[in-house]
Amino acid sequence: MLTLNNPITYIKGVSVQKASLLYAELGIKTCNDLLNFFPFRYIDKTTFYTINQLQPTTAEVQIVGKITSVKSVAQKRGSRLVATFQDQTGSIELVWFKGQKWIKDALRINEPYVVYGKLNHYNGSFSIPHPELELVAVYKKKLQSKMQPVYPSTEKLTNSGVSNKLMRTYVQNLLQQFFDHITESLSQEIIDNFNLMSKREALLNAHFPKSQESLAKAQSRLKFEELFFIQLQLLRKKLINKSKIKGFVFENVSNNFNTFYNDYLPFNLTNAQKRVLKEIRKDVASGAHMNRLLQGDVGSGKTIVALLAMLLALDNGFQATMMAPTEILATQHYIAISEMLANMNIKVALLTGSVRVKKRREIHNDLMDGSLHILIGTHALLEDKVTFKNLGIAIIDEQHRFGVAQRSKLWKKNTIVPHILVMTATPIPRTLAMSVYGDLDVSVIDELPPGRKEVKTVHRFDSNRLSVFKFMKDEIEKGRQVYIVYPLIQESEAMDYKDLMDGYESVSREFPSPKYQISIVHGQMKPADKEFEMQRFVNGETQIMVATTVIEVGVNVPNASVMIIESAERFGLSQLHQLRGRVGRGADQSYCILLSSYKLSEEGKTRLKTMVDTTDGFKIAEVDLKLRGPGNIMGTQQSGVLNLKIADIVKDSKILVAARNTAISLLQDDDNLSKPENSNIKKTFIQLVKTSKIWSEIS
Ligand code: ADP
Ligand code: MG
Repeated sequence: MLTLNNPITYIKGVSVQKASLLYAELGIKTCNDLLNFFPFRYIDKTTFYTINQLQPTTAEVQIVGKITSVKSVAQKRGSRLVATFQDQTGSIELVWFKGQKWIKDALRINEPYVVYGKLNHYNGSFSIPHPELELVAVYKKKLQSKMQPVYPSTEKLTNSGVSNKLMRTYVQNLLQQFFDHITESLSQEIIDNFNLMSKREALLNAHFPKSQESLAKAQSRLKFEELFFIQLQLLRKKLINKSKIKGFVFENVSNNFNTFYNDYLPFNLTNAQKRVLKEIRKDVASGAHMNRLLQGDVGSGKTIVALLAMLLALDNGFQATMMAPTEILATQHYIAISEMLANMNIKVALLTGSVRVKKRREIHNDLMDGSLHILIGTHALLEDKVTFKNLGIAIIDEQHRFGVAQRSKLWKKNTIVPHILVMTATPIPRTLAMSVYGDLDVSVIDELPPGRKEVKTVHRFDSNRLSVFKFMKDEIEKGRQVYIVYPLIQESEAMDYKDLMDGYESVSREFPSPKYQISIVHGQMKPADKEFEMQRFVNGETQIMVATTVIEVGVNVPNASVMIIESAERFGLSQLHQLRGRVGRGADQSYCILLSSYKLSEEGKTRLKTMVDTTDGFKIAEVDLKLRGPGNIMGTQQSGVLNLKIADIVKDSKILVAARNTAISLLQDDDNLSKPENSNIKKTFIQLVKTSKIWSEIS
């Protein structure tokens, strides 16, 4: 039986040899694979030229004429084959350097050909090297498309005779043999709603477009379909998780939560914080398992939301834990949370790599007998020895720093999976979040606490360093503190270290002790020394912190108001944004100065300009996505957005939103896809689930 799952050897003209080559080089195995292997561009053959119309600037041409003579011309190395090609208006040369013997035998003199190729212009005469040639008689018979597809290829394929022309023939034969086997994959309702092309029409036109317009329609139909089925898979997974994974029910809101909220909350929550808290409360009371991603820009106040969620767990007899990526950050959380809970009867502990054995044992015991309520820590939390009596909620801060395996380890610490709240200050563009985290619930704190002043950001060249020093002095005079950050890139650690040390020296000269005190923190220091230096800065004993990017995540020193980033062009956008987030945390006007050399790449310029233009983390993330593509954004690697065949997550965001909304309303109406009008979708879906890899597993 002919089906599109047949290997491509079923296609007329595809030998076993060529088939295995196509599989090895491009991963094309079945007819379906080839059908979904799309051209990356099209040669527009709507125009024919006459020879007297050719200009030295003309690029690709198509001409009808005859070959009048063929000769071999000796050259420095070997020879070339030259054919004279004529139409009514003049003549040009067709030239071959390879395959001369074979071509010479195949050429027919004085028969009309359509010739196509790149035009060369040399010394006033035109030639086309290695042209495509087709007898007019054959040309007329073929399934002709005026726009010809050009398929992605590899050197090996081209060298083994799989030319673009041959690929075209394969696809053409495939379409002719299998056209009737292409079945519609969307429901009539969706097709009508969006006025989509039918699947057959779309596939035909994606390979052999009738016109620019039909190409556009074909592509948008196929993109919609691709994104729609991804969304359908993610949303189905979410539905299944919700119904399958039981969650603890936090039905009580009592003592801990209320006392804290009414008596000890240090400020009023912003509306965004309130909204997110409501979303969390609804989740944890529902009986289903919460798996929620909380996005909020640096300084938006995620910690307090996390704390309130933990208090809910406590009110229901559960323990809570919070994991942070660095010791500094975990310690800060511990201090802040202990202070806020100081007058309440809640036991909080800190567990990091540097906690002594004795203390560690104590923590282990208190955890198991339930007398310890909240445990804050680093990766040390993941050790097998750390077992909770009854963990109700696990909070993961700055999740992009943790690997998937680490994260899932945390919630294997219970027989029932605790509720999960993952927090990130690396905003993920909405479109990407939909594709990568489409199976999670997402909350966003999109509002900063009141009174924050936007960090003023400028870009200065290295040569302006003196005036930057002057500015630092003025700020320090006012009692402020300053960060100076140097890049650290793994491959050139030694060089970066030297940069840092040179910088430290020149800063020390400019800011001599005892008037000025300087802290220095970098990756080659022992944790205890780092901690000591950091602490001096936190306590205000030093006015300047010279550091590599170790301070990037989370550190909170409200009195620091100047962030100077050296060689700023070497940092990525999200890193720059994170660094800038270290200042602007107090009531004072804060500044970020991006220093760079004069030599800047286009991309480097765009990054710095973006930083100067906006402080909106989501806008910055959008630019980042455009600059670097989804492959470099955290979390995408496992998600399948990189394997898209036709859609582009950046460019096709409108289609993505439409596809997601369509998938949502479809599942609301028919969660099992069992209605007859959705049978096309169901069939395709089942087939896809069978063949596709597992989708994003963040939990
Ligand atoms: P992030 O979201 O970056 O983790 P934090 O939770 O560390 O932010 O909060 C940043 C600062 O803002 C902290 O000093 C915190 O106390 C303060 N803060 C948080 N929420 C509010 C609020 N609603 N009003 C005033 N200050 C707040
Ligand atoms: Mg934080």
